[in-house]
Amino acid sequence: MTASQITRRDLLRLLGLGAAAHPLPAAKPPVFPRHAIIRTILKDLRPDALRAGATLFHEHMSLAPDFMPRWIAAAGMGRGQAPPPAQPFFMQDLDLMVEEMKAAARSGVACIVDGGHDDMGRDLDFLRRLSLESGMPIVASCGYYAQPFYPAKIATMTEDEIFADLVHTASTQPVGALGEIGTWDFMTPDERKVFRAVARAHLATNLPIFTHTAYGKGAIEQLDLLESMGVKPQRIAIGHVGGLADPKAEVVKEICKRGGFVGYDRQGGAGDARNVPQILALIEAGYAANLLFASDFSSGTQLLRNHGPGYAKTLTIFVPKLKEAGVKEDTLHQILVDNPRRFLAFEPKKKR
Ligand SMILES: [Zn+2]
Repeated sequence: MTASQITRRDLLRLLGLGAAAHPLPAAKPPVFPRHAIIRTILKDLRPDALRAGATLFHEHMSLAPDFMPRWIAAAGMGRGQAPPPAQPFFMQDLDLMVEEMKAAARSGVACIVDGGHDDMGRDLDFLRRLSLESGMPIVASCGYYAQPFYPAKIATMTEDEIFADLVHTASTQPVGALGEIGTWDFMTPDERKVFRAVARAHLATNLPIFTHTAYGKGAIEQLDLLESMGVKPQRIAIGHVGGLADPKAEVVKEICKRGGFVGYDRQGGAGDARNVPQILALIEAGYAANLLFASDFSSGTQLLRNHGPGYAKTLTIFVPKLKEAGVKEDTLHQILVDNPRRFLAFEPKKKR
């Protein structure tokens, strides 16, 4: 590391100021590496292009119609056969989704990251048309989801082959993140293989990584594994930590202390009440710079069209609860606008 590469954060760490000094001051705008971009499905953007609104770092605008029924069944919540979704499936209804995206923009959303990929039935062309017609910048992702959803080939592919496959995808498709990369329960040998390959794909591409955990289970194990492969925690968001039964937020604090992002990414619903005090505790401990918010949108009942809160529910439902609890505007701006841009911005190793 040369002197010019030492960030303020590194400097504070070198000076031994540790966790309390870890986050950037809320009022100070983030500084991005010189050639950093955020790779949206239509074009690479300078991070400044997204400074006027919130970036939701983990949502779904494209999934297979049977994805959620399969998910519910795999989670043991569906007693086997889940009912088929209503037709046409909303994530295949372009006109409807364009309206939902435009409404989200009016509520203050500047960009949305789609956490799907092939094994979840994500349709890249649908996302491209959705972004084009709605004007909403969308970051598409790549990777493999979790054991119950892996294509059969994962069982026989080597780590090297999965790595090569991910790098090939990242260099031939307009993807801006490796995510969501999951462990379904305890990490399986296949999941370990995928995580190792994802870490190596990150090192080869600089794409950020965001994960799926089973309600926070194995969060530290995921960070340990990625970090052991050489990934800097600042490039990792551990997902779904709001599901942890962790009233003092101890697991989450450990991730933050190590420099990782933590995803409170199922917001705007029943989990909010439990998460508000955790988030207050994290801000109080000096970890506002490590927080990322989103809603993991995946249900048609949540659409504005169906009188639900819509894709902006993180902003319209969850954020007011934080304001009510005393979280300041500049802290919320840091979390919603600055943190996701710091997480997503990367210096590409290869031009798109
Ligand atoms: Zn998700």
